Amino acid sequence: MTEMMTPAMRQYYEAKQAYPDTLIFFRMGDFYESFGEDAKTIAKELEITLTARGKNREGEKMPLAGIPYHALDTYLPRLINKGYKVALCEQLEDPKQAKGVVKRGVVRVVTPGTAIDSSMFSDASNNYLMAVAGKEVGKSGKNTEKNSEKNSEKEMEMGVSFLDISTGEFLTTQFRDSENFEKLLSELARMHPAECILPPSLYGNSDLVDRLKGQTIVQVFAPEISGSEEAGEKLKHHFKVATLEGMGCEKLDFAVSSAWAALEYAQTTQLRDLEHINTLRTYSNSEFMILDSITLRNLEIVKNVRDEGDANSLYRILNCTKTPMGSRTLKKWLLKPLLSVENINLRLDAVEELAADPLLRYDIRKWLSEVRDIERLVGRVVYGNSNARDLIALKKSLDAVPPIRDCLKEKIESELLKEIAEGLASFSELENLAEMIEKAIVEEPPVSVREGGMIKPGYGAELDELRDIASNSKQWIAAFQQKEKERSGIKSLKVGYNKVFGYYIEITNANSSQVPEDYIRKQTMSNAERFFTPELKEKESLILTANDKSMALEYEIFLKITQALSAHSRELQETAERIGALDVLAVLAEAAGNNNYVRPQLTDDCKILIRDGRHPVVENTVPGGFVPNDTEMDCKEDQFLLVTGPNMAGKSTYMRQTALIAIMAQAGSFVPASHASIGVIDQVFTRIGAFDDLASGQSTFMVEMVELANILNNASPRSLILLDEIGRGTSTYDGYSIAKAVVEFLHNRGKVGVRALFATHYHQLTALEEKLKRVKNYHIAVKEEGHELVFLRKIVPGATDRSYGIQVARLAGVPEKVIERANEILKELEKENVFEEAEESENGKKKKSKATARYTQMMLFDPGSSGRTSAQANRSSPVEATLKKLNLEEMTPIEALNKLHELKRLLN
Ligand code: ADP
Repeated sequence: MTEMMTPAMRQYYEAKQAYPDTLIFFRMGDFYESFGEDAKTIAKELEITLTARGKNREGEKMPLAGIPYHALDTYLPRLINKGYKVALCEQLEDPKQAKGVVKRGVVRVVTPGTAIDSSMFSDASNNYLMAVAGKEVGKSGKNTEKNSEKNSEKEMEMGVSFLDISTGEFLTTQFRDSENFEKLLSELARMHPAECILPPSLYGNSDLVDRLKGQTIVQVFAPEISGSEEAGEKLKHHFKVATLEGMGCEKLDFAVSSAWAALEYAQTTQLRDLEHINTLRTYSNSEFMILDSITLRNLEIVKNVRDEGDANSLYRILNCTKTPMGSRTLKKWLLKPLLSVENINLRLDAVEELAADPLLRYDIRKWLSEVRDIERLVGRVVYGNSNARDLIALKKSLDAVPPIRDCLKEKIESELLKEIAEGLASFSELENLAEMIEKAIVEEPPVSVREGGMIKPGYGAELDELRDIASNSKQWIAAFQQKEKERSGIKSLKVGYNKVFGYYIEITNANSSQVPEDYIRKQTMSNAERFFTPELKEKESLILTANDKSMALEYEIFLKITQALSAHSRELQETAERIGALDVLAVLAEAAGNNNYVRPQLTDDCKILIRDGRHPVVENTVPGGFVPNDTEMDCKEDQFLLVTGPNMAGKSTYMRQTALIAIMAQAGSFVPASHASIGVIDQVFTRIGAFDDLASGQSTFMVEMVELANILNNASPRSLILLDEIGRGTSTYDGYSIAKAVVEFLHNRGKVGVRALFATHYHQLTALEEKLKRVKNYHIAVKEEGHELVFLRKIVPGATDRSYGIQVARLAGVPEKVIERANEILKELEKENVFEEAEESENGKKKKSKATARYTQMMLFDPGSSGRTSAQANRSSPVEATLKKLNLEEMTPIEALNKLHELKRLLN
């Protein structure tokens, strides 16, 4: 049948055959066209008209949809973001010069994870392709016959790589994972890849694929080679190195396999060597605090829970970076807080130095704001799809580097800043490269690189000469027009030009009788005729060749410059990286000053001591001002803080702020507190709030229990656990029992328990403080004023014995009738003493909850409206401290009265 097709259609089907899983964008003149099923899909997804043309293989009318070629940037991202792959089938020769049908071929396949065009990115975030390799391995020593298959005794050895072809960043890692792929999913959540490729062996695991699919676009991809050895060889060949040792992955077979899969996938979609991908970095999760996907979500580190945007996230609060590299780096630091006290202090030293010198910071940030996305600009230059505007942007960015270097030159003390300064200074070619662009490229070049107008006059004699011919010719044409007007006596005669017909003499029909005899007809218009003369024809070819030649020469010069830049791509990318780090350090210093943060102390023990801690995000949103709170934890005495208090009291906020302060500290940031000392945390686990994971068909309670299981199985003594309302999703008795068992389990796991904050409305749990020595009760104080419930937002030691649910319902505007009835029911229930009976049957005898007694006592010492800031009874408030110091014997009555005034002011 193919014989019956037009040659162009044959080309189309060839492309479709070679790239069956893509939509083909087939270039026809000024359009990209698609046919058949592709056309239907494209018309539907892009909401464009579906038409029909010619006949298909079956002799039916062929569906067709097309977009103008210049609208590619608008339409392509829409398809890619929906998960389609698009193959661009271009004209490979100039249609004007083509003999017969124009040659066409696929030049690039665009997929979500291999996008390089700037139109594809909505912000400065990295666009990662994720590649996975791995295989099941038995858990050593534990695979006994007794363990049924279901007992999670299987483990996976996984290699994962992330490649951002727009910036050239390439990372790999290898780790042991559970058969539930918890670590893999946590990497996925942190890196947020646009696309993930799996080898067929893993693609067959529907569990894995389903879990990945909720978060990224998943494709199966089988590299042509088999085995890690061959993959290693391929990588060495690409990086032109003899060993992968320098990259740290020589012995990590799965890391190597996944890295090669990523690179091969990128090469086969881009159909070229990707030279700007010039290094591979191996990282180990043991260097970073682990934040799994649930924790990232719950703590709203880079995205909020509401709409997944970055509003109200920690990242947004801190992100006033000046450069795209800076905002990407900040995200990385927040997603991967460090574990080494030494490395954290390197960052903190630099932040402190910049925080202490606002002028230096101002200068650095002023210059940073001149720097564009060097990483992506270099990516495009090396890749070969840059234009002269990119070169100008790169030059402006490079111009800002020497002043930044100078800012850092003299007074810098901290090691990290020194390292950045030295690194920037080591790129000796930087100024030459900037100058090379400066000399050649005009200030505001056109978008196209093929139509001239990019290169400055005076750059080269040959180009100037060609341009002279073209511009002199313009004068010649003007003179020719004048001469012909006079010769023919036709005043309206004009000489014009169009792309198809070239130069012509146009004479309106009214003057057709006066056309000179030697004019040769060229084209007939509705109200005029167009002619040429041999003289005009000769000049035309001279002008056109000069024009063509000068455009070709400009392009050649442009290519030479991009080649020279490509030769330094590694240094350019390293410069970009240093700029990114400097930007973040300056931003953290800026945030420290603007938000009143302090430098945290990091230790290798397991204490957490936070004075006047604040939630970095909530503190900006509460209208009445944020009430700071203290946290004291360790593994020996205050391991397990049981936090009670009514709904809306501020329990979640308090728990989150503790974790966020630790995360900020380990990322290298100052923190919202008056003092913070943090024993380094290896992983934060959270179980906060309930949401149905409907996409995966799990109920709230199931989700809750899955998360709980993960926490109980994986928390180490260095972890921090936040548990909010465990057991809420089931009946009261079930929920209470689970909650209690969880507290006991975490408390009794070993001699040193894992640090945990546990917020619960089961105030009966507070009795556990009596039994478990490292459990400490705290509650968030409230005050009842008549019917009203006043939230004091203060955490105080001791338990509460009421949930105040009904008061909160009143606050929320539930009708008074319902509130009254609820109060009646509550009274009846309290008479029946539901929970105390549960306690009684457990202990054999009924005992009055000590919590109740203590609660009443604690309320006496609750800060009330006193503004007392201490969570610990042994710390006195400013009022108490002042009172203690007073020497009453030596005071006059008026002094005493004044002092009283002062104390009252302090209280308010
Ligand atoms: P809970 O977990 O006890 O139900 P939340 O932590 O969700 O309560 O807090 C409820 C609201 O109270 C928050 O949205 C915030 O507006 C406010 N809030 C919480 N903690 C504080 C605080 N320390 N200072 C001021 N307002 C606070």
